[in-house]
Amino acid sequence: MTLHQTLQDIASLDAKLAALPLAGRLSLAAGLGRAVFTTSLGIEDQVITAEIGTHQLPIEVSTLETGRLFAETVALIGETEERYGITIKRFYPKPADIEGFAAQYGLNGFYDSVEARHACCHVRKLKPLTEALAGADIWITGLRRGQSGNRATTPFAEYDAERGLLKINPLADWSLEAINAHVEAMDVPVNPLHARGYPSIGCEPCTRAIKPGENERAGRWWWENDEKRECGLHVPEPHVPEPSASSLIPTQN
Ligand code: SF4
Repeated sequence: MTLHQTLQDIASLDAKLAALPLAGRLSLAAGLGRAVFTTSLGIEDQVITAEIGTHQLPIEVSTLETGRLFAETVALIGETEERYGITIKRFYPKPADIEGFAAQYGLNGFYDSVEARHACCHVRKLKPLTEALAGADIWITGLRRGQSGNRATTPFAEYDAERGLLKINPLADWSLEAINAHVEAMDVPVNPLHARGYPSIGCEPCTRAIKPGENERAGRWWWENDEKRECGLHVPEPHVPEPSASSLIPTQN
């Protein structure tokens, strides 16, 4: 198949997904191959997990347990599994990678430079994500166009050339109001931090509550100036140097 045909197929899939309700979008995605949904336990992702669990859809649910998550987020993993009778597969960073990062930048060195922050996200998120998606044909995400300007053109279906798989974003056209209404109507369990001013929740040291008028993702890596800041999961990762061999030697503190 040529690239032109592939792109045509994706455009046609995008149109099909647009016409379906959420469960239909997920069923269609699941029928295309081995589908993996990566959840951050955020409110959008909880809507998708609830749909997968309620309809027992053949979609694997995975999460990146970075080691720096809020206690509320970690607790929600187990609560969600119990509620929907599903298993959420955890993917952890490698201890040697964490030690290498800490030796080179300091454990909380992500505050000091964008390079260090990307290096931390690389070892705690990107590398585990690669494991989570190994062998998958379809990657399902909770991306929404309304989350930030950077996500304003999110399609329902796109080809992720970097990872060589099809990425499906079944909530692309949902508003935050629609998400909230669905959560209330379906009694979906959500992170209690949302009610405390955290619409977008990542790692604890890198997430703060937002102020009135700020966009939904303003509390993520708030000390950086770049309006398009992301962790690299959904945008091509900037070049991140691997920690040097010497920095991989564990230190005492
Ligand atoms: S969000 Fe912060 S703590 Fe989490 S992986 Fe990225 S830089 Fe590290």
